[in-house]
Amino acid sequence: MKRFLRIYALFAIICAIAALITSKREALMLGFDAKMPSWQWRVILFVFLFLVFCICAKCFVMWLNTIKQTFLRKVESTENVKVNCDAYPKNDGVFCECVRKDDWDGALADLEEAKRKKLILREEYALIKAVVLYQMALKEEKNGNIHAYPRHLVSANELAPSFVPAALALADFYLKEGQKIKAAKILKDVWRKNPTFDVAKAYLALYPDDTAVERAQRMESFALYNAKLPGLNSFIKAGLNMKAKLYDKAKAELDLFLIKNPATKKVASLMAIYEEKVLHNQDSALNWKKRAKKSGRECLWVCKYCGKKSTKWHIFCNECYHFNPFEWKLCVARKRGRERRK
Ligand SMILES: [Zn+2]
Repeated sequence: MKRFLRIYALFAIICAIAALITSKREALMLGFDAKMPSWQWRVILFVFLFLVFCICAKCFVMWLNTIKQTFLRKVESTENVKVNCDAYPKNDGVFCECVRKDDWDGALADLEEAKRKKLILREEYALIKAVVLYQMALKEEKNGNIHAYPRHLVSANELAPSFVPAALALADFYLKEGQKIKAAKILKDVWRKNPTFDVAKAYLALYPDDTAVERAQRMESFALYNAKLPGLNSFIKAGLNMKAKLYDKAKAELDLFLIKNPATKKVASLMAIYEEKVLHNQDSALNWKKRAKKSGRECLWVCKYCGKKSTKWHIFCNECYHFNPFEWKLCVARKRGRERRK
């Protein structure tokens, strides 16, 4: 702000001098009226020049900032990726170099080489290859290659059905193609192996004509496929039952959730609704509302190396620059102040 003020003050002085030294002849050339007293056209000229210079100054500073940021980002990403990607896979670092350069064909070739030399575990190989194929699919989609996009996604999903981003993208692709059964199968599969909130959301979105009650019932049967995270089932079912006005069912799910998990933002606000609408207990509702404000989000992707949280999956953590570090977690407790680093 101070820097801007200084720049504007400088421009104001330049404009004042320009306005003062402009003679009557020049003023007439600029289109001013000959009858106008000299101080009037000087003031108008000053204001006009000042505004033009201000706009130019603003544009110039913005342009400088963009250049600075692009430069900084480039330096940051190349340096850090180089440092932390070396663990994947355990070879001479060619894979990491390719990943850094966005060369996914090269990365894939190196990964195959590592597998042939038995430098990498079988499961590790499958997941890394799925991640690479998913990146290739995204690149093909960007390039408008409509055939390669689903082909890579299918390969990624076959290799690692538990890899959520590829499964979600493939299910979405099938849905757009009108193949709802295939989409549902993929989502059920990934839900069984790696249940996340987005998977359930995508599954329910397959049936947009459902009423609120039907939606709650559909989730009831979908939840049976997920034995890994019962808390997630309860959490989603509570929300859907509440929307369907099946308050007692919702309360039962909330109680189930709270046995093993802390009250999260959404859970606390659902409890507040129950207290308010069913029990008409305003004090308790207010308490739950206060608790909702203080609580953390329930589901997030968390970096397994540095604990960085994100609402979306990313190939790199932008704090520690590890490759594919994000794991989906239910009930991420909110920490006070700065995040604790491992
Ligand atoms: Zn990290």
